[in-house]
Amino acid sequence: MLPSTHKGPIDPNSGFLCVSVHWRPDPGAPDPEMPGQKMSIALYLPTEPDAACLCGSGKTYSDCCRRQRHWHPICPNPGLAGYSLMVLQSAALTPIDGAAWRERLLDDIRLQCVEDNPQRGFWLYWGDPALDDQYGTLCFGDIELKNGDTLYLTAMSDVRMQTLLDLLNELATTPLPAPKMSYDKVEMIDKVTGKHVKMRPSRPT
Ligand SMILES: [Zn+2]
Repeated sequence: MLPSTHKGPIDPNSGFLCVSVHWRPDPGAPDPEMPGQKMSIALYLPTEPDAACLCGSGKTYSDCCRRQRHWHPICPNPGLAGYSLMVLQSAALTPIDGAAWRERLLDDIRLQCVEDNPQRGFWLYWGDPALDDQYGTLCFGDIELKNGDTLYLTAMSDVRMQTLLDLLNELATTPLPAPKMSYDKVEMIDKVTGKHVKMRPSRPT
């Protein structure tokens, strides 16, 4: 589970910055459940040099991410099954039958619908069971239905994106169009200069 508190110094060479996204109802809104509130939390996860690297490479931390010049954030995998490097990405699948997909997505227990109108539907991937902590319910990716003919997926890691694509393939009754992928820059800290830089992530080698 995500540790909730850390006491002591935050050293880029002694641990990871872990970003998680949480949803909770918005008591002040006309409908507290839609869209609700979404919040990102960054936690520091201290890591021993000889521990397995939290990026999931299978190497030790000292032989992997600790050697990297840039401090690359991580995020929990669906179901809190380990962590992955943050690689912000989206996938567009079009054309799809929007009316049929709306029904399928509304029926799926792993998804929480937070917006549903004729132009747009929006679902959070919670998984089954959904996982709650003091910040709310953990979110592991988004699915948007746009213009009645496009599914638009956003995820913070390769593992999360694969989980969303696997879900769509499981629900599909006809082969899906190939996803058109795009990637965003990730904010990292340069361990040498201490400056924040936005860059396209490259995997540790
Ligand atoms: Zn690593």
